[in-house]
Amino acid sequence: MISRRSILTALASAAFALSGLSAPASAQEPKVQAVASFSILGDLVRQVGGDRVEMTTLVGPNGDAHVFSPTPADATKVSNAKIVFVNGLGFEGWTNRLVKSSGSKAFIVTASSGVKALKNEEGHGHGHSHAGHNHGDLDPHAWQDVANAKIYVANIRDGLIKADPAGKKTYEANARSYLAKLEALDVEVKAAVGAIPKNRRKVITTHDAFGYFAKAYGMEFLAPQGVSTDAEASAADVAKIVKQIKAERIPAVFLENVSNSQLIEQIARESGAKIGGRLYSDALSDQSGPAGTYIDMIRNNVQALQGALSS
Ligand SMILES: [Zn+2]
Repeated sequence: MISRRSILTALASAAFALSGLSAPASAQEPKVQAVASFSILGDLVRQVGGDRVEMTTLVGPNGDAHVFSPTPADATKVSNAKIVFVNGLGFEGWTNRLVKSSGSKAFIVTASSGVKALKNEEGHGHGHSHAGHNHGDLDPHAWQDVANAKIYVANIRDGLIKADPAGKKTYEANARSYLAKLEALDVEVKAAVGAIPKNRRKVITTHDAFGYFAKAYGMEFLAPQGVSTDAEASAADVAKIVKQIKAERIPAVFLENVSNSQLIEQIARESGAKIGGRLYSDALSDQSGPAGTYIDMIRNNVQALQGALSS
């Protein structure tokens, strides 16, 4: 005799088959515990992982991963994780030690794997280096090029499938629909930046976080700090930027959500350039802010650039 329960199960399966969706994790099935090193990556993992994944980020909204110091609570998060996502490219050098010290057996996914990495100074014509600190040769901010975010998403999808094979269909479907959104976003950014007059596509930010954006979309970003935020810009770095702003009539300087605003305010004062707004470089805003997701972050940045540079 067919039980009531099996009829319901069969009906439910049929409904999922008809809708083309795979069945969600049932209530009793525990979610996959995932950790991402910083908020931008955390959002990408959430988009692909959906309901099957419980996400924890180490460096939260508006946080600076360059200079982060993990706490024992972070070690606990990592030791409980089944899968850990990091950016790589020298961005969060503290993760290796953290994973090791936590005793975690988590599967580690380097989201930037396969990205064509820019050298420290490539792509934004910024030729200085600070004495006494060395971040390696690579610019870690690959996520600022939407085409690279698509590579991140593919790596996240493949990592989740390895950690949780039962969710394969869900991860593939989520990744597919999100990749389509990123594709549309990339087109949107190209059009928006393309509409800014060429001679005005040059701005100042606190640190060199926009090399990939610059290269992908045809802009120039200059910064008194290098690709990390862990050393202060010297007086000579600041003087050089001020001189350059005046000589090249650079229209605007931008605050960053992860950096102290004093440096940019000083540069604006000394150069006469206006403050064009705030760019989200290495972290999302709070959920209630204008850059609570990766897509909103990119849109917000592009709108800020357009607003300051268009006329
Ligand atoms: Zn940075």
